[in-house]
Amino acid sequence: MATAILLSPSTPPSYHRIVSPTLQIPADTNVSIPVGILACQRDPLLRSLDTTVVSASVHQPPPAPAGKKGKKAVLAPELPAGPILEVLLHDTVIFPEGGGQPTDTGSIKAGEKDWQVVQCKRHGGHAIHYVRVPESITADDALTVFAPGSPATVSFDWERRYDHMSLHTSQHLLSALLETRLQLPTLSWSLTTYPSPCYVEVPRGMTQEEIASIQNEANRLVFEGRQVHVEVQEMQRKDEAKPSDEGARASGRGLPSDYTGGVHRVIVIDGVDRNPCCGTHLPSLHNLQLFLLPHTDALSRSTTRLYFLAGPRLIAHLAATHAHLAAAAGTLTCGLPEVPARVATVVDDRKRADKRVADAEGELAGHIAAELLAAHSAAGGALRKHVHRTDDTPGALAFLTAISAAFERQEAAKGKAYTIVLSSSPSAQSASSVCVVSVFGSDEKEVQAVGAALRAKLGVKGGGRGPKWSGKFTGVWKPGREDGVIEEALASL
Ligand SMILES: [Zn+2]
Repeated sequence: MATAILLSPSTPPSYHRIVSPTLQIPADTNVSIPVGILACQRDPLLRSLDTTVVSASVHQPPPAPAGKKGKKAVLAPELPAGPILEVLLHDTVIFPEGGGQPTDTGSIKAGEKDWQVVQCKRHGGHAIHYVRVPESITADDALTVFAPGSPATVSFDWERRYDHMSLHTSQHLLSALLETRLQLPTLSWSLTTYPSPCYVEVPRGMTQEEIASIQNEANRLVFEGRQVHVEVQEMQRKDEAKPSDEGARASGRGLPSDYTGGVHRVIVIDGVDRNPCCGTHLPSLHNLQLFLLPHTDALSRSTTRLYFLAGPRLIAHLAATHAHLAAAAGTLTCGLPEVPARVATVVDDRKRADKRVADAEGELAGHIAAELLAAHSAAGGALRKHVHRTDDTPGALAFLTAISAAFERQEAAKGKAYTIVLSSSPSAQSASSVCVVSVFGSDEKEVQAVGAALRAKLGVKGGGRGPKWSGKFTGVWKPGREDGVIEEALASL
């Protein structure tokens, strides 16, 4: 993942603002700090924290849900096999999934050992760390390490989180501009798995001009380096009504109904946006160049997806698309800017070549049909003949059909008695190569009799109606062997 982006080294003290006179961050280390005012939410740039274990238990996987799997809002890493501990800490820098932002992954140093945190989830109002127990340790021994009151140092996968923060803060900026400049509410959004572009869903399509204007405006604010801060207060204070979100942007996701942390949290982009959210957000828009993919996908009449990229994922995307373009330019032996014109030429040439092949095939089919007719005249009576061809086209059967059609079109063939077998095999044959056979004639009974013999003696899979029969043969077609079976079938008519 690309990380060549300058960061402010630490979160400014003005980032986290408790706007209620009564809200306190629990200092008692026996108590777990609720989601909403966790260290990861107070200081998104803090990479490691010394804290204390509050409780731990062995994870009991829930029974597999019956029926179809529901659509998962946030992609979480799969839990590995083997025992998992659910660990509750006094405080944490590991973000539990929420607000459309996926879980952090990380580690907890406890009892002189680094324990892998594979997921972190909010249970009610608290962040539960899913800690992997290595094979060499029993779950009971692991539980002793995570006894209540034990010291623990928690840290997280910074690159994963930095990517998530870059895109989440960018989404707030993007949604705010869509709403205030174009009156387009964000219906939902997705922080997709790295490195795919993320998207917001809006209720209508957007023009190129609209997309460009939103992107320009966003990047003007990025250039200014607008500050971001967080305001928190109690969900329901005794002395007043529920905090009002007046002036706040309606968000795609409301507060989860099972959230019991009691904290109301609003993310503020200075002069641009106020949005209730639990995510970890960068302290400024600095270096969050926003790139909107210049097209939208209409999912339905009322939902359109607009894709966006920012931060390290944008750089990864540019690197990947450049590599794709450079690979195409290499194949076409041209410079990168010439690729579209060269591809257009190649496609055009291909169309012309396809047409020429079709014309030449038509002509060749006519010649083969004429040869068959000449043989017919020479035969004097009924013509029963087999012609085998070697042909590497994937449409070999269509070509055999073209020969039979050309034969039947000839005036000279009308009223005559004939049964003709055409077969075709590729030039390089193996046990899995496919050969095709076509039978046609003036007498339906003879054609079907030959078809039945091909099926019975050569294992050709096929069928037909009236005076036409065709099928496929898998394996190696040998002139003396398979051809001989056909000669026999024709001779027995
Ligand atoms: Zn958010």
